[in-house]
Amino acid sequence: MSDPHKVLRTVFGFDAFRPGQEEIAQAVINGENVLAIMPTGGGKSLCFQLPALCREGVTVVISPLIALMRDQVRSLRELGVAAGALTSGNTEEETDAVLDGLRNGSLRLLYMAPERLASSATEGLLRRAGISLIAVDEAHCVSQWGHDFRPDYLRIGALRDALDVPLAAFTATADTETQGEIVQKLFGGVPPTAFLRGFDRPNIHLEFQPKDQPRKQILAFAAARKGQSGIVYCGTRAKTETLAQGLREAGHNAVAYHGGMQADPRREVEARFSREDGLIVVATVAFGMGVDKPDIRWVAHADLPKSIEAYYQEIGRAGRDGAPAETLTLFGADDIRLRRAQIDEGIAPPDRKGADHGRLNALLGLAEALGCRRKQLLGYFGEEATDCGNCDLCDRPPDTFDGTLAVRKALSAALRTGESFGAGHLIDILVGADTEKVRQRGHDGLPTFGVGKELDRKTWQAVFRQMMGRDLMRPDASRHGALVMTEAARPILRGEASIDLRRDLIVKADRRPTPKALVSEEDAPLLSALKAKRRALAEEASLPAYMIFADKALIEMAETKPTTLDGFARINGVGATKLEKYGAAFLSVITGSDAENVHPTRRKLAGRQAGTLFDELQRVQSELARGPMGTDKPLSCSTSDLRKLAEQKPNDIAAIARLLDERRVDRFGHAFLDVLHATD
Ligand code: ADP
Repeated sequence: MSDPHKVLRTVFGFDAFRPGQEEIAQAVINGENVLAIMPTGGGKSLCFQLPALCREGVTVVISPLIALMRDQVRSLRELGVAAGALTSGNTEEETDAVLDGLRNGSLRLLYMAPERLASSATEGLLRRAGISLIAVDEAHCVSQWGHDFRPDYLRIGALRDALDVPLAAFTATADTETQGEIVQKLFGGVPPTAFLRGFDRPNIHLEFQPKDQPRKQILAFAAARKGQSGIVYCGTRAKTETLAQGLREAGHNAVAYHGGMQADPRREVEARFSREDGLIVVATVAFGMGVDKPDIRWVAHADLPKSIEAYYQEIGRAGRDGAPAETLTLFGADDIRLRRAQIDEGIAPPDRKGADHGRLNALLGLAEALGCRRKQLLGYFGEEATDCGNCDLCDRPPDTFDGTLAVRKALSAALRTGESFGAGHLIDILVGADTEKVRQRGHDGLPTFGVGKELDRKTWQAVFRQMMGRDLMRPDASRHGALVMTEAARPILRGEASIDLRRDLIVKADRRPTPKALVSEEDAPLLSALKAKRRALAEEASLPAYMIFADKALIEMAETKPTTLDGFARINGVGATKLEKYGAAFLSVITGSDAENVHPTRRKLAGRQAGTLFDELQRVQSELARGPMGTDKPLSCSTSDLRKLAEQKPNDIAAIARLLDERRVDRFGHAFLDVLHATD
């Protein structure tokens, strides 16, 4: 069995496990049944890919989407791992190659679509292949109540029983109902070793803004990140089209995506997004699970998501590679009305509706937060945290005021008018506006008429939005969205509680955006040169750019500027296969030299002690090329002999003589031994 740390370094090129990965991988290696819940981008794939390489036999991976499987297989092959997929999208040759790999025992990971499990031949195939582990990606797809339900996932339990091998299940969905279903359906009700990983994604910057010319706000956000891959989520299909158009007019590379599109154009967008560097997809939530791109640099919500879970899942698609990523979520009173109405008018039973309102409330609370957003977000998921320093409220603490009186005035305006009106009319009453509706209803005679003149209309809108956001008032769908007071507001109305509100910080949408850079100004030209190199190599190999190297690896290259292949090998994300394939090409960009001309044998040793030994042996050899006096006939060893010496480190002349002929032993033997012993 191979050492996991060694496999992590040499195959994946990573220095260290991410939090949680090591324990999970170890349990899987030990052959335990495992359920691991990790946030999107937490690095789940490694938790079964690495054990697959450390264990004997073949690991079968069940994954719900063909596109995801293909991506993972290609990524693994780029790492030099024998992986294959059996899906309906395969060509005959691809399938034959996979079956050959299974027969001759070379294949290590077999990805399979759940539909395959329906075929009676599959079990026999897997049995013959010597499957030693089943890994289930997106395990929440067994949940009948979730929106990703895949009936074929229900066959996995039977497969586990039939093969009698350990099973490791992975998901990012944390709610206890789903967990229970996974245990029932995949593990036959016997609780597996469970890991619930922390939900924090510290590299993602969080920001909310009240809507104020939302189109401009999104355009400004995108303008500051021009050339970076991003997603804009919209509430409606129509908006995806118009906003994509707007972004294109502003010079971005942007396309729309929504569930109303045909399957082919949708796949085309998915493929382009994964392949191209810097494409913006403007989408409805239909653009989701199939998105596995690790280098999405930003996610913006042009409309408020439907719940705190949806919000976290959607922004979680950014920055899976661990490099800095940014998010912006816009929200307004209209969003709140729309989301409430969707719940109220839905077909769910009453207790479900109550829970849905609760999840929306949690998101609204986050939108209207007065302190660190991450603290509040993680708190919702049951985790304690300190101020994060990576959200808009940590960057710029909000300007707050005692809003108790304003809230009481607003509540009283609503109550005195029979809780039958929306915010617009209630604000008219508060500021004492002379409108037809006010006169018609005689609302200018109310004691509350004109009692709120000290605040302007815009501030009152912010007050109402925050009251809705903090669930002091709810729009009532059965009465055209009229605002109704909730129980939570009663203590404030009675004067038993006070409340602080935020003064809306109207971030001027048209102020000049400051471009967000991933590296210092000084390193920026090198980073773009490295990106250009990556793009050229990706195009040549028809691979998505991130499969060559992740953004994070390029950033590290630009910052640390290694000058040798050995230094290059230390970059996080550079494993043996990639080093050999691409190391020299990137190094020559960094040093401006011709590292590509380094002998391929030497390249194979880069990053290892043998590499340094090889260089030393080569130096000694050239010193002795004409003998100790410089008068003999020139003599040298082949690079492959030098490599053997460097790798095997023979410790006496006899051992050297097994590798070199007599003349070479005479000339170099002792000098080589000195080099080889100097490192002991
Ligand atoms: P998930 O499936 O949990 O969303 P992935 O398995 O796709 O996450 O991993 C997200 C990204 O993190 C990938 O690009 C992967 O290469 C990278 N990654 C995983 N583990 C590590 C690690 N230990 N060190 C650095 N990067 C890692």
